[in-house]
Amino acid sequence: MVLHTVGEPLRLEELAEPDPQPGQVLLRVAACGVCRTDLHVVDGELPRPKLPLVPGHQIVGRTDDGRRLGVPWLGWTDGTCRYCLSGRENLCEAARFTGYDLDGGYAERVVADERYCLPVPDDYDDLQAAPLLCAGLIGYRSLRLAGDPERLGLYGFGASAHIVVQVARHEGRRVFAFVRPGDDAAAAFALELGCEWAGPSDEPGPEELDAAIVPAALRALARGGVVVCAGIHMSDVPGFPYELLWHERVVRSVANLTRRDGEEFLSLAPRVPVRTEVEAFPLEQANEALARLRRGEIRGAAVLRVD
Ligand SMILES: [Zn+2]
Ligand SMILES: [Zn+2]
Repeated sequence: MVLHTVGEPLRLEELAEPDPQPGQVLLRVAACGVCRTDLHVVDGELPRPKLPLVPGHQIVGRTDDGRRLGVPWLGWTDGTCRYCLSGRENLCEAARFTGYDLDGGYAERVVADERYCLPVPDDYDDLQAAPLLCAGLIGYRSLRLAGDPERLGLYGFGASAHIVVQVARHEGRRVFAFVRPGDDAAAAFALELGCEWAGPSDEPGPEELDAAIVPAALRALARGGVVVCAGIHMSDVPGFPYELLWHERVVRSVANLTRRDGEEFLSLAPRVPVRTEVEAFPLEQANEALARLRRGEIRGAAVLRVD
């Protein structure tokens, strides 16, 4: 499925088999998760996608010799800049991203730099594993950047939150879910997965929070609390009184991932064990999957199934 012009639907096309360059592997795609970032790419909210582009950066695929590999958002870094050399390859200024700078997994075949591929734990089938590769990974990195909160707030209960809550509960944290006002299904889903409380995001929760993932949350924080903004694209952060930041409250973003995050999270996930809830779509229904995600109609994660 190919994006030719931002703002237009993806087109189903027959493409030539991609040709792996030295260091790259050719994968037969089995499943590819649909991420909110894919929506931002397709809708033209991110500045410079390669065009034409095959989107998708939560890819589970197999090599010709039968190995199963995961391809995440971070597809390549230079390995030489000050960020790469200091363990922060997620911030590399020359980084190339899968399904953005590089063709991704909304396809039957993909090539990927093998050094950035991740091992997929055997405990998961292809569909269930796909959302671990971005929703899970970015959620995990956000949780780490939130510090060591006893009380964690999740704003919005999408693919990432449905995984983060399981990890956070495994670590003994108390989790509060703030959902779109009126979205009772999301609130019920959050409670099912171990949130202690779920309610509308325009109202204060039952307790102060030590950390929250996303910004409207500043008002909900206890002293010293952290707000982590995990989206690659967000609406502007509105002005707020300094008093809300006082007492060492922190607002920060989380960008991309490192291979180390990937290895840590994918070894942790089966031990939690994280269970992903997925809604599967055939590859050729990628536009429908994106539309459902845009309307907030996906419970858990949307995944394209490639036969
Ligand atoms: Zn670099
Ligand atoms: Zn993503």
